[in-house]
Order: sequence, then structure tokens, then C-alpha cells
Amino acid sequence: MSRLRVAIQKSGRLSDKSQALLQNCGLRFARSKDKLFWYGKDFPVDLLLVRDDDIPRMIMGGVCELGIVGENVANEVMLDRNGGTGLIPLRKLEFGHCRLSLAVPEQSDIVGAEGLDGRRVATTYPALTRSLLKERGVEAKIVELAGSVEIAPGLGTADAIADLVSTGTTLRANHLKEIEVLFESTAALYGTGESLPQEKQDLLDRLLARIDGVLQ
Ligand code: ATP
Ligand code: ZN
Repeated sequence: MSRLRVAIQKSGRLSDKSQALLQNCGLRFARSKDKLFWYGKDFPVDLLLVRDDDIPRMIMGGVCELGIVGENVANEVMLDRNGGTGLIPLRKLEFGHCRLSLAVPEQSDIVGAEGLDGRRVATTYPALTRSLLKERGVEAKIVELAGSVEIAPGLGTADAIADLVSTGTTLRANHLKEIEVLFESTAALYGTGESLPQEKQDLLDRLLARIDGVLQ
């Protein structure tokens, strides 16, 4: 009997809502606190609990057939891979809303993306930021950071940042102002671009029908 694997975030902003969505679809799991694998009891769908950043590559690598992750993360990986076909969005979900925004120091006179041509932009989303700036006709120097992007302008390592924002509190705490929204993101269910064996495809179709019922 075929089974499907769905990767979701282990702990973080998307975890509870990803679990709730699947539970609302009638899925029940034999869970254990520290284990990263939850066995699906009533429906042949198992969960993998991982870091959100690992989800796109796990789908592309065939470790799992499905995953729930932010569009920001998925798009970054797809762009980095030259738009490979390994990852396809199946359903946009109703949680994980945030925006990837440009911000500059409060005293800066840069007012929009146009002002960033040739300037340094720090971000943890280099491929996505480069592509969104390019769409706006702007070619900036991307400074790739692993985290704490908001301190880069104060340290003198960037003129602006492109970072995820939901309330703006972090920006204000770091004396930054938001100047332009580059991208609005939500969580989404992704699948593999590879075709699945018929039994798995049937299972996926049944799961998607349940998800659509919940999203209604
Ligand atoms: P992990 O340990 O799994 O790598 P993380 O620290 O990278 O976790 P979270 O902060 O939990 O990730 O964010 C996960 C996703 O939640 C983001 O990629 C984004 O899609 C979404 N999100 C929603 N609101 C925000 C926000 N205000 N800041 C950051 N991410 C947000
Ligand atoms: Zn992460």
C-alpha cells in the first residue's frame, strides 16, 4: 500500500497551523515529542517534522512528496536553482502571511527600490531579492547574510535590507523604515514536479480534495 510523506516545520511560525490543517482534513498521527516522523494512523499520509528551509530540497530530492512552506522560502530555492521543475505550488494556504520589504535607516533619503541601483542590500533571500529588484529595473549589490539582517545598515555593511516584516516592530527597534514591499508571502502546499506512481497520485488527489474542503 502506497503512502505519502508531507514535510512541515517542526517548530516555528508555520508549525501549529500546518498541523491543524492536516488534522482538519481528518488525518491522525501517532506522534512522539522528539521524533521527527509521525505515522499517519487513519489515512496513509505520514509527517516529517523539519526546519522550514529544508522542505523545498526534501521535496526536490524525493525524500517526501509534499511540503508546507512559505512562498518566500520556496521561491528563493527555485530561483537559486534556475527555476527548476522539482517543486510546484499545489495550494496557497491561509496562514504564514508576511511581506518581504525593503527598509533603510530612518535618516536615509532613499525612498523606493529605484534608489537602490548600485547600492548594497543585505538579505537572507539573495536570489528572491535580486530577482524582485531586477523586475523593478534595479541592479543592487546583494549582501547575503544568514540572519540578523536588520543590524547590517548600522554596522555599515549595507545601505538597505530586504527582510520579512509582519508588524514592523523589529524595523523600528533598529531605527529602520520600510520603503517598499517587494513580495507578499503566505504558506503554501508544494508538491514534486516529477510524476507520481498512480496509487500515490490517487492518494494525493484525495488529500487535495480534503484540503479544498477545509479551505472552503
Ligand atoms: P526554522 O527553525 O524552521 O528554520 P525559521 O526561524 O526559519 O524556523 P520562522 O520564523 O518560524 O522560521 O518563519 C517561518 C516562516 O513563517 C517564514 O519563512 C515566513 O514564510 C513566515 N512568516 C510569517 N510571518 C513572519 C514574520 N513576521 N517574520 C518572519 N517570517 C514570517
Ligand atoms: Zn528557517
